[in-house]
Amino acid sequence: MDMPEKKIIAKRYVRKHQGLFVMLDKIKLWPSRSGILHGIKSIEKNGGLAVITTHCDERFVVRDSRNSRGARWLRNRWHTNICPSCAVPAWKLEKYAATVFSDRGAQK
Ligand SMILES: [Zn+2]
Repeated sequence: MDMPEKKIIAKRYVRKHQGLFVMLDKIKLWPSRSGILHGIKSIEKNGGLAVITTHCDERFVVRDSRNSRGARWLRNRWHTNICPSCAVPAWKLEKYAATVFSDRGAQK
């Protein structure tokens, strides 16, 4: 029996009701208002707010709301471009594409 290639990407489940910060911690990507998907370098949490620093050194202040614009864009993958300066690796985008946002998904 042949072994399948190791390139198979397992589906990742992210519970959306846990809030935006949990999603960001797992996905490490941020869709800006202009529709560009950035890679997250660091997240500084401060109560219900967080400062996201991207790999291209842009900063975004976001609220921990699963209904915010960013959360919705992230869940719906509404970005139109990938930031060229962030150099988001392909595996990260593939993992993002394989992420299932659910309310009852398996919690690991
Ligand atoms: Zn960027």
